[in-house]
Order: sequence, then structure tokens, then C-alpha cells
Amino acid sequence: TPVIELAGGRKTYRSGSIEFEALRGVDLRIDRGEYVAIMGPSGSGKSTLMNVLGCLDVLTTGEYRLAGNDVGELDEIDLATLRNEEIGFVFQQFHLLPSLSAWRNVELPLMYRGTQRAERKERASAALERVGLGDRLENRPGELSGGQQQRVAVARALVGEPALILADEPTGNLDTVSTEDVLALFDELHAQGRTIVLITHEPEVAERARRVVRVRDGVIQSDGPASALHDD
Ligand code: ADP
Ligand code: ADP
Repeated sequence: TPVIELAGGRKTYRSGSIEFEALRGVDLRIDRGEYVAIMGPSGSGKSTLMNVLGCLDVLTTGEYRLAGNDVGELDEIDLATLRNEEIGFVFQQFHLLPSLSAWRNVELPLMYRGTQRAERKERASAALERVGLGDRLENRPGELSGGQQQRVAVARALVGEPALILADEPTGNLDTVSTEDVLALFDELHAQGRTIVLITHEPEVAERARRVVRVRDGVIQSDGPASALHDD
């Protein structure tokens, strides 16, 4: 079953009389359990595509279905609910709340859904154990290394069992060792059947995915197995 079905996706930005087409007809299907990297140079439309896939922004024309839901038909509230239930986000800057402990950060997607406190704590603890931070439940982000903070963010992305994990330059702020930790974690999650879409401009990161989609000037330039990355 497809998690992502994007057909004829176009996105036009307007400021005054100036228009710019950041996505110029993108077709993309991603099935459950795939691990896909989206690559492209700066200005190619990666952030725009990420925002569309993440239901943070809507297409100007075209159709986007996430886990079978026609995103264009949803109002803001239903879109926010869909985003919370079906997508776990991981960002370059971690986006953790500094005043909250690790488990309090991780439980946030469950709070939004109204899950009871005891279950939230249990699931947040299990998610932190899964990323190797079972002994850091009560630590605040400032007491953790960059790599540990990103693993907290991955735990938060996982806790609600979303259809899709959407990671935007997740290793962009990490050193080599922490980058490897996070990529090893994605390998494990992929092996466990999770669907992962990773946006990156780093070839060493992209080649860890199974499939690489290259974007350029708002269109998909190539789409194929990561093993073909070195062929051009
Ligand atoms: P990338 O993430 O690959 O750097 P973006 O999706 O951020 O690419 O941007 C693609 C193109 O769209 C760029 O030329 C950028 O300047 C333009 N763009 C992005 N967002 C806006 C916006 N809100 N208004 C106008 N132009 C934008
Ligand atoms: P990234 O580093 O992810 O590519 P950018 O720094 O290109 O992000 O853009 C940051 C934000 O500014 C994004 O929300 C993007 O949509 C917006 N943006 C990018 N280019 C433009 C532009 N030319 N005009 C207005 N907004 C833009």
C-alpha cells in the first residue's frame, strides 16, 4: 500500500506580481516500508516538497494522498490531526523543548491525541529505550549531546506509530560519530518495516537509503536504487 501518492504536484509562490514555480509537476509514490532519500542542490525545491509531504503546506495544483487521505480535501484542523497521527518529524535543529525532560518531549504527540498519562509515560519510555536512551528519561535536552538529542527527536517521531517518518537534514548538525548513530538507527527502523523519507544534500547520507530521488529545478531528475548513486 502506498504511504505517499503525489500526482502532478505543482507549487507556485507568489509575492506581488512575481510568481515562482518551486515544484513543476512532481509524481512520487512511496510504499509502506520503503526507505527513500530525497536529494538535490539548494533551491531545487526540497524544502517545498518536504513541506507538502509533511502536510505543512498544500499544493497549488495536483493531488497528494497520505496514507490514503486526500490532503487537498482536508481543512486545517483535519490536516493537523492527520499530520499528528501519520507523520513523525525529525528536523536538523532537533526542535526539542528545552525545559522538558526527554520523556516529556517524547510524549508530546500522544498528548495531542489525548492519550492518558500512564500510557504516555509507558510509550515514551519504550520509545526512548528503543533509541538507546532508556537511562536518560529525566534529562533535559541541554544535558544531552547533539546525537542524543537527535535520538530523542527520533523517539518522539516514533512514539505515535506514524505511517511515515519524515526527516529533514537529520544529520546536518551532527558530528561523524553521532551521524553514524542516527543513520544506524534509521537502518534498524527500516529493518523493522517503518517507512522513512530522508531529505538531505549529503551523498554519504543518501546512499544509506534504499532508493534515491533527485530533485532539480522543481522536477524529479532521477529516481532509482541508492546503489546507482555512483553511476553518473
Ligand atoms: P531547497 O530546499 O531545495 O533549497 P526550496 O524548496 O526551499 O528549495 O526552494 C525552491 C525555490 O523556491 C527556491 O528558488 C526558493 O527561493 C523558492 N521559494 C521557496 N519558498 C518560497 C517562498 N515562500 N516564496 C517565494 N519563493 C520561495
Ligand atoms: P532550507 O535551508 O531548508 O532550504 P531556506 O533557508 O531556503 O530553507 O528557506 C527557509 C524558509 O524561507 C522556507 O520556509 C522557505 O519556504 C522560505 N523561502 C525560501 N526562499 C524564499 C524566497 N525567495 N522568498 C520567500 N521565502 C522563501
